[in-house]
Amino acid sequence: GAVRAEDTVSRWGGDEFILLLPNCNAENAARVAEKVLRTFETSFNLPKHELNSTASIGIALYPQDGSDFEALAKAADSAMYRAKNEGRNAYRFFTPAMEVSSQRFLLIESGLRQALKNQEFFLHYQPQFSITDGHVIGAEALVRWQNPQLGLVSPSEFIPIAELSGHILPLGTWILHQAIRQAKAWQEDGLPPLTISVNLSAAQFRQTRLVQQIKDMLDEVNLDACYLELELTESLAMEDPRAAITMMDALHEIGITLAIDVFGTGYSLLACLKRFRVSKLKIDQSFVRDIASDPNDRAIVDAIITMAHSLGFKTIAEGVETTEQLAFLREHGCHDVQGYYFSKPLPADEFKSYLLAPHSQLFDLP
Ligand code: C2E
Ligand code: MG
Repeated sequence: GAVRAEDTVSRWGGDEFILLLPNCNAENAARVAEKVLRTFETSFNLPKHELNSTASIGIALYPQDGSDFEALAKAADSAMYRAKNEGRNAYRFFTPAMEVSSQRFLLIESGLRQALKNQEFFLHYQPQFSITDGHVIGAEALVRWQNPQLGLVSPSEFIPIAELSGHILPLGTWILHQAIRQAKAWQEDGLPPLTISVNLSAAQFRQTRLVQQIKDMLDEVNLDACYLELELTESLAMEDPRAAITMMDALHEIGITLAIDVFGTGYSLLACLKRFRVSKLKIDQSFVRDIASDPNDRAIVDAIITMAHSLGFKTIAEGVETTEQLAFLREHGCHDVQGYYFSKPLPADEFKSYLLAPHSQLFDLP
């Protein structure tokens, strides 16, 4: 309904469609894109359900963006990912600058397709400590990806791509499974019980079956839910606070603890924060980094800790690299710490050796 008789609409699989508009300049293409986006503003009414959907549109122009269909489709795809990345429900024109980043993007995206099956992922664990006596309270599980062509790819690079392309769901499930089994294995090895922290991405958090899925994984190895902590980002929780509260309540119900990751960099409504069933705020490393030199960062960290105290949350500072930072955090009442000053994220076996070796001297401050 949004295009002319001479245009072609085709479906490329899943939720991907291509509109081919012959004899159409940029201005008209934009107009069609706007029309398509407007079409999505009305909900789809199915028996008993009202469904809302949005579109993300990438536009490539012939001949400047590609001389054949394949090149044009690829350029449109890059522009579409840009539209998704910048908030969805929008259209973007392809620009040559997208090409450079999109080549790497496509390599990663296609690499991710086989990565789980080829067992290219593994987890590292970074110890977390109680700031008062230095004992290890838990570990954050951090995923690593070693690909034969790309080498070791940072999660900061591939996680966002996995989120956009949908690979995050099976990957997220694998990570949870792996971390839960590891926590149980350490307990069976006789290590003191630790809480394993797993980062959760937005798409996982939106899945209603997440709670049952986690419950099944815990039951499978017979691990008490209190040993699992999930890290959610602030923006994830604020995207749809009502849904987030429902999900948090359900997770809380089965005994899982929740932490808000990279706290302070996003935007939280204090009124919502109060209703979130979280037990911990993770103070982002960007504030911790310059604590020693930047009075603003000192003020922010101090304010977060004070606020967390009065709302009944614990605090953990991440990215602690120096004694000065540790001293400041301790002085201001931060509960827990994590960072290179104590240890980098480690493979499971090295983590175990680290745990068995003495490390409390790191907490003997002048
Ligand atoms: P994050 O959750 O904020 O994780 C903390 C990051 O800081 C990790 O980077 C960790 O290696 C790094 N880090 C720890 N201590 C220090 C320090 O003292 N100094 C500095 N400069 N950095 C430190 P990493 O492992 O590269 O992970 C980056 C991000 O990727 C994570 O940020 C998280 O958002 C995401 N990520 C990692 N693993 C997973 C996962 O299993 N699932 C999901 N959904 N996201 C993950
Ligand atoms: Mg984290």
